[in-house]
Amino acid sequence: MAIIPTVVGKIQVIFGPMFSGKTTELIRRIKRFNFANKKCLLIKYSKDTRYNDNIDKSFLVTHDKQNYQAFPCSILEDIREQAEKYDVIGIDEGQFFPDVVQFSEELANQGKTVIIAALDGTFQRKPFASVIDLVSKAEVITKLTAVCMVCYNDAAFSKRIVDDDNIELIGGIDKYISVCRGCYHKDTSMKTLKSVRNVHDKALSGAVVAAHDQFYQDGPQNMAVDDIHLNNDY
Ligand SMILES: [Zn+2]
Repeated sequence: MAIIPTVVGKIQVIFGPMFSGKTTELIRRIKRFNFANKKCLLIKYSKDTRYNDNIDKSFLVTHDKQNYQAFPCSILEDIREQAEKYDVIGIDEGQFFPDVVQFSEELANQGKTVIIAALDGTFQRKPFASVIDLVSKAEVITKLTAVCMVCYNDAAFSKRIVDDDNIELIGGIDKYISVCRGCYHKDTSMKTLKSVRNVHDKALSGAVVAAHDQFYQDGPQNMAVDDIHLNNDY
């Protein structure tokens, strides 16, 4: 007797520090599933409106300004009914959803592929409890690295450069930098960063300085802007 495979869901987690390309990787995977004729839903955290001043609030926007249509919410359970109509569910900024583990597990058990992009650690390198439990429930875990914004080594950590202890402080390069282990422990206040930058500016060639300036302005993933919109019926 032939064995008929059951529909098998999956949880994929994309971890990494700020500016490591988590959202870009999430969108790449969603786009690929979309090509494979899967019905895809992208969910973003509702309080996250970075770079969204001039476009519709329902667009998820990455640091490199690539944008994508996404459904905004702050509690995943609120959109479970809609989510159950899709084959693939992408969740950005997963660390901010208190019910991300339960939601992902239950939808994967229904045969869905759930892809979560999330910070694994806070700016103090403490685990985000809401996502760390996904590690033991996921089929695929990817941890991306960024480029250290101080010394250009691989960066696995996010560091806050403004004085604020609130864990949920959403921001870009104005508030955070990606750093390697060594630079995480160094003084990287704005003043120090400026002096590091001055040294680099003097030492580096013009072309590299220009790239360096762009890096500080837009983050390390200053890629060509390519607006991609899925035709999902939210
Ligand atoms: Zn470094």
